[in-house]
Formats: sequence, C-alpha cells, structure tokens
Amino acid sequence: MRGFRIGSVFGIEIRIDYSWFVIFVLILWTLTRNVFPTAHPGEASGTYLVMGLAGTLLFFASLLAHELAHSLVARARGIPVHSITLFIFGGVARTTAEFESPGDEFRIAAAGPLSSLLIAALFWLVAWAGAALALPVAVTGVASYLALINFVLAVFNLFPGFPLDGGRLFRALVWHRTGDVSRATRIATNGGKVFGYMLMVLGFLNMFSGNGLGGVWLVFIGWFVRMAAESSYAQHVLRRSLEGVRARDVMSPDPRTIEPGATLQRFLQDHVLAGRHHSYPVSAHGRALGLMTLDRVRAVPKEEWGTRSVHEAMIPISSGITVAPHASVADAMLKLNESPVGRILVTEGDRLLGIISQADVARWLERQRIREEVSSG
Ligand SMILES: [Zn+2]
Repeated sequence: MRGFRIGSVFGIEIRIDYSWFVIFVLILWTLTRNVFPTAHPGEASGTYLVMGLAGTLLFFASLLAHELAHSLVARARGIPVHSITLFIFGGVARTTAEFESPGDEFRIAAAGPLSSLLIAALFWLVAWAGAALALPVAVTGVASYLALINFVLAVFNLFPGFPLDGGRLFRALVWHRTGDVSRATRIATNGGKVFGYMLMVLGFLNMFSGNGLGGVWLVFIGWFVRMAAESSYAQHVLRRSLEGVRARDVMSPDPRTIEPGATLQRFLQDHVLAGRHHSYPVSAHGRALGLMTLDRVRAVPKEEWGTRSVHEAMIPISSGITVAPHASVADAMLKLNESPVGRILVTEGDRLLGIISQADVARWLERQRIREEVSSG
C-alpha cells in the first residue's frame, strides 16, 4: 500500500492509503445526498453537508478506534504493531508476528467487534439524550447513524470467515480444540471465501433489483473478502515455512557497492550497464550510506550526470531501507514491501553485510523446497 502518515496514537503510526479517498468521497456523497435527507427530510442542504462531513469523519474515527483496540490488545500480549492504515475497504493493523497461541488470537480478534459495539452504544446514548434534550437533528441524526453503522460493522466483522475478526475467533477456537494451526487456518479461510461469494451474490441481486451503486459496492467488498481470505492463507503458509529464518539466511552477502563520490555517469557505465542490477548499495570503507538506483539517476537532468555525485542522488539509509541480520524474514519482507525500490540492505550497526530483494526470498524458498524434496525422497 502506498500512502502517507497522518500522525501516531499510543506510538502506533496512523497512515492513509490513497485508495481511502475514493471511499471517503463515496460515503460523504451517500450521507449528504441520500441517507440524511431521507431519514430527516426538511432540512437545509447546508445542514446535510455538515451532517455528512461529521458522519463521515466520525465513521472513520470509529474504524480507527476498532483497529486501535486490536492493536492495543496485541501489544499487551507482546505482539508489536507498527502501523494502522485506512484504505478503501476499511482499516488494517500491521504486525509482523504470527499469534503465538489461540488464546492471544482470540483476545486480539475479539477486541475489534467489542469496541465497535461499545462505540455503537455510546452514539446510541448520545442520540437518545439528544432527543430527550430536544437537540437539533444535525446532532441526533449523525449520532443515530453512527450507532447503526458501528453495530453493522461489529456484526459484519463477526462472520466466521478468515481474515475477518469472526474468522480469527473461529480459527482460534478450532486451533484450541485441534492444536493444529494450519488446519484451523484452512477451515477459517474457506469460511472467508464462502462469505465473499455470499456478498457478491447479494450484490448482484441488489443490482438487478435497482440498487445499482449499493450492489456494485457489495460485489466489490465480496470480491475483496474472497481475495483477502486466499492471500491471508498463502501468507500463513509462507510464514510457517519461514519460521525461525533470519534476514542473514536469505540475503545476498557482500554485494557489489558504489562509492559515494562517484558521478552518476560512472554509476551508469560501470554498474548499471556493466552489471546485472538497477540498484547498488552505496558504501565507503565498509560503512553503508544508502542505495543508488537507476530511477534516482533518471530524476536528475541528463546534463548533470557527469558532475553530480551518487551521494547527492542516493536514497539514504536513514529512510528505513535497512534491516538487522538477526531480524526475522517476516520483518524483512514487511520492509521490502514498503521499500520504494523493492530492495533493503542488511546492516549491523552501519556495516553493510548484504542486500535482500524479492528474488532473494523466492530463491531461498525454492532452495528450501528442494531441501525438503531431497530429505523426504
Ligand atoms: Zn477488526
């Protein structure tokens, strides 16, 4: 996901993916033009816009609180959470560790829907008190919408399909009963796929009965849930096979480097054109300084390639493109996904030990497969 940081809460980075703007506009539009005018007719159009804005922002704040609840319980169980990202289909909290026990997973998964129910109850109270105090419809209308949407969110998330919260609860129960996490994940994943198809069918039925936009949206969500179920399962399998593997095990050691003082022209000639890669670590006397890539050369006007140095144009290591040799491969892969060039450096202190690309991880997995084949054959 590509997006930007909006701040941090309890030390957890909050990010917004660019796809989020689509859903923001869609919800704002639906609330302002449809939901609030239908539920509370007779108000000025400016009132609906204010209600729509407040409703949309508070809806996303509720989503964030739901993800924060997961994250805080995870952290209390010793599982670090790096960031929460809001994107087109909701929120997602990033952790690198797989849950160690079914008990942990159960608690972490339950925290989300519980927080949504709590938020729903709070807004319901506001709506109820607002009505009793004869507050304007802008207040009570928004509050009762948020009570409803958070309740729906909790119920939706409780469906026993992985990777929804309900699917995680279900997986934790099967895992607890059978002691077999892979089997539990497989069963819960099938639940997720079934749920995805159900939503898609529901979406098509909606489309044909005249609710075009709502129907298309349901089909999209169903498709996403099905995809997410499959990819979460693949990720689980991958993580299982990478358990205990460290960054140093998969890296390409002692990579060819370029010195910081070299010109961009020389980098192109001696490294990109004469070598096999588009990017090379920048180092001086064994100290890692950054990563130089073809794209960074392209960003500089051609006339300056002969005079500008690699040091000026490189991606510095301070931009989070390094990983320690003893870091888990799961950690390394997370960094790899976030790296702007699809490569990260393995450093100890500031000493350069190696480089990791997706290809290195794939090669390691392939070697592992062969190793198992040979030892079982
Ligand atoms: Zn959740």
